[in-house]
Amino acid sequence: MTQSTTINHSETYGSVWYPYAQMQSLEINLEVVETKGVILTMADGKQLIDAISSWWCVTHGYNHPELNQAMTDQINKFSHVMLGGLKNQTTQSFADKLVEITPEGLNHVFFSDSGSVGVEVAIKMALQYFFNQGQQHKTKVVALQRAYHGDTTACMSVCDPAEGMHKMFHGITPEQFFLDAPSGGFNASDAEVAADIEKARQLFEENGNNIAAMIVEPLMQGAGGFNYYSPKYLNQLKALCKQHNILLIFDEVATGFGRTGKLFATEHTDVTPDIMILAKGLTAGYLGHAATLTTSEIFGAFLSDSASTAFMHGPTFMGNPTACAVGLKAIEIFQRDDFLSKIAQIEQQLKDELLDFKHEEVVETRVLGASGCIEVKDPSFHQGIQEFAAERGVWIRPFERYIYTMPPYIITPEQLKAITDVMKDWFLRER
Ligand SMILES: *Cc1c(COP(=O)(O)O)cnc(C)c1O
Repeated sequence: MTQSTTINHSETYGSVWYPYAQMQSLEINLEVVETKGVILTMADGKQLIDAISSWWCVTHGYNHPELNQAMTDQINKFSHVMLGGLKNQTTQSFADKLVEITPEGLNHVFFSDSGSVGVEVAIKMALQYFFNQGQQHKTKVVALQRAYHGDTTACMSVCDPAEGMHKMFHGITPEQFFLDAPSGGFNASDAEVAADIEKARQLFEENGNNIAAMIVEPLMQGAGGFNYYSPKYLNQLKALCKQHNILLIFDEVATGFGRTGKLFATEHTDVTPDIMILAKGLTAGYLGHAATLTTSEIFGAFLSDSASTAFMHGPTFMGNPTACAVGLKAIEIFQRDDFLSKIAQIEQQLKDELLDFKHEEVVETRVLGASGCIEVKDPSFHQGIQEFAAERGVWIRPFERYIYTMPPYIITPEQLKAITDVMKDWFLRER
């Protein structure tokens, strides 16, 4: 267990300001010096299985020889070149590949450098789609309770307004509409879906005229606590959006590239979203990058004889060729090595090892694709679990009431069992 002693910052972790942390009491004792596959090697020689893929992005494992090679080959030509006014084959091929593998109809790709910026781009694109058609009144976005879409300003405005971590910025971020998080899980009944959809119908009927878009994390609200929900909800939501001239944005930053059991969560539904955002697994966790994809109809609304309808956005590193090169290779490997069947095996094992687990502290256990979660009653219950897991060779990072795993897809059954054992042993330990 950690003790709250005064910390000499320069000795413990230098001058780095760490994420989501009270720096006054933060202690970091694990220092990574090497990685291979799913293993993180620490400065003291300890080896940890990464149960959470470095915040859900290292899909192919660390230090992958082919991914390393793809990047090295690109770097030896040029690691970066601007996308303003210059084209290059790597970025173009990656965009074409993304259009090829995403749902029919998403034909245009706007690159940026992180999931948050990809979401900002999506929201800005949706609003301007209407502005370009003279519909200046369409300025609002609808999001779900429990949503997480990133930490920048427009993203904060569509994160859960009550439980989320951005509460103190209310009044500064734009005020948006929120609907209850879909209930009933992945296999929700028709009645449960109908009740949730009814709330959307009412909101759209009252305010549709001012609403430009609805944004959701399809099927899995990740940082909001692994709330899995029904594809039927999304099918019906799409129909409602269409009826009220509201664009539907799928934030697939976390769900994209296999996490829910299909290449994209969208594939569980009949929906092609109007806009879709990819990041995290886009480069197999090698580099920060994002892609915001959209339809020809939306793209078309930016075309005119006037510069005033153009999309005025352009992150310095958008379309970075090194990120695109590694992303292209990651997709090739994903398809060649049939990662979807690996994910199906992970899902089955997680179901076998987690779903029946019962304990007085447990609210529910849930699994979808290569993600599994134990929800506990009391968020303080898992204080100390990181040290406990590290001693048993596992790197895990619970938050709020959720102890979860989202492993790299190359994990072996033995390594995955080590993770689920640790998750369960925490409850069964002597206290
Ligand atoms: C992680 C995440 C983001 C933000 O992505 P960053 O690359 O961290 O900016 C946005 N949406 C969802 C669903 C995410 O999980």
